[in-house]
Parts: sequence; C-alpha cells; structure tokens
Amino acid sequence: MLKNLNNKCGKVNAVLANEYIKVYPETAEEHRDMQKFCREEKIEFYVIRPLSERPFKIVMKGLHRDTDIEEIKSELAIALPEIEILKVGQLKNVRTKSPMDIFMIELKKNGHENKIFELTHFMFLKIKIQNYRKPPGATQCWNCNMFNHSSANCGFQTRCLKCGEDHRTNQCPITTPQENPKCINCGATGHIASWRGCPLFPKIKPTKGQGCKLPQSAKRIPSFSIQETGKYILLNANTKVNTPAGRTQLASGKRI
Ligand SMILES: [Zn+2]
Ligand SMILES: [Zn+2]
Ligand SMILES: [Zn+2]
Repeated sequence: MLKNLNNKCGKVNAVLANEYIKVYPETAEEHRDMQKFCREEKIEFYVIRPLSERPFKIVMKGLHRDTDIEEIKSELAIALPEIEILKVGQLKNVRTKSPMDIFMIELKKNGHENKIFELTHFMFLKIKIQNYRKPPGATQCWNCNMFNHSSANCGFQTRCLKCGEDHRTNQCPITTPQENPKCINCGATGHIASWRGCPLFPKIKPTKGQGCKLPQSAKRIPSFSIQETGKYILLNANTKVNTPAGRTQLASGKRI
C-alpha cells in the first residue's frame, strides 16, 4: 500500500502508530491527492485536523431556550462583523433530551474569534460567554463507529452500530431494542460498541481546556491515519476479520 502511495504521490513521510499508519503530507495538494488515492483504492482512513484548523467553540448563556438559532446567527453577524460563524447549536440535557438555555457557537479561527468574549449583552439580554468543554469521554464517529475522530473527517466504510452493515445507525432496519446485541467492535455479545465497558472503548483521558489562553499552533498540513489492522483490512475493503487472533495473523502476515 505504501509502495503504491509512494509511486503515486512521490516520497511520503509515513510513521507506524499502533494499528495505524500516520502519513504527513507536505502540501495541501499532496493531502488532497492522498485522500483521493485512498478513496480510489478503497483504503480506509481518517483525517486529523491541526488545532489551528479546528473550529473555535464557545457557549453562550443567558438567552431564552426558545430563541431561534437563525436569529442568533444573524444578530451575531451584526454585533461582531469581524467573526466568522460556522455553526450555532443548542445544548440538550443528556437525560431528558430537552433543549437547555445554553447555545454553542462555532467560529472560524480567523484571528478575531476572541472578540466574542467582549460581548456582555446580546439580543437585549445580559449574557455570558464561556469556553466550550467537550463532555468527558471518547469521540465516537457517527459514520464508522470507531473512535477518536468525527464523521466529518472519516474515510472509513459506514458501519451500523446495531448490525455492522454499511448504513448509518439511524438508517438501520432494526428499530426495536435487541435482547442480546453483538458488539461490532469487539465481537462480544451482550453490549453494543458505544457501551463504555466494551474492552475496545477508549479509556477516558483528562480533558484539556480549549480556548483563548492556549497558544495557537503553527500552521500545519493535516496528517491522516490509515488503519492497517482493524476489523476492516486496508487494500481489501470487503475483508472482515472478527477475531483478535485473525487480526494479528493478518497484521503480521502483511507487508507494509
Ligand atoms: Zn469514522
Ligand atoms: Zn443496521
Ligand atoms: Zn464491545
């Protein structure tokens, strides 16, 4: 696989990282070509975006919970024309799923994003702006149900949490709770892959604060990881290996 990638894109900078190969493209063009190559060759991958390219996320408290999202967007654009709004969303109570009076705002890091902290009144109300802290725990991808990346950066095959087939979980024909579900990540029965007790569920690391005080990392081209020995083996997207033993065999038997 790496040989082909080298032939296609010139000398690539690749590092083995556990079950993945990390590839560091040098230019944006190379990055695009490599993604194209992976898609064409059906190689599964995900993109790691550098901190400087990730959205700047804050929460706004103090507005009524029925406030219209579109109205927040347009009023915000008038109040702070320098900022670039990517998304406005409303946080929901995890248990009751009811919307809370906290709005999350994602801004592009354009050098003016910290201006939002100057806002003390908005839509005729006193408000509070705070850094957004993502809830503790691992990010699980909506598309492939593996960890540490989001569906926006996912190049893996779609995998349903309930049945493991290639559709999104919300498109699954199974709509009733299963009595003895099979985990699509570890293969065991009795739980699904989003259960924290699954042996393949990542352990919780302490969360780092995000926001204005963190130094801005230097501009870097995002690298991307290619999974080498997961359940879905590279080079052949249809090969499914479900036992850890099978994984090891294939991993050691494969030339990189
Ligand atoms: Zn994914
Ligand atoms: Zn399904
Ligand atoms: Zn499991």
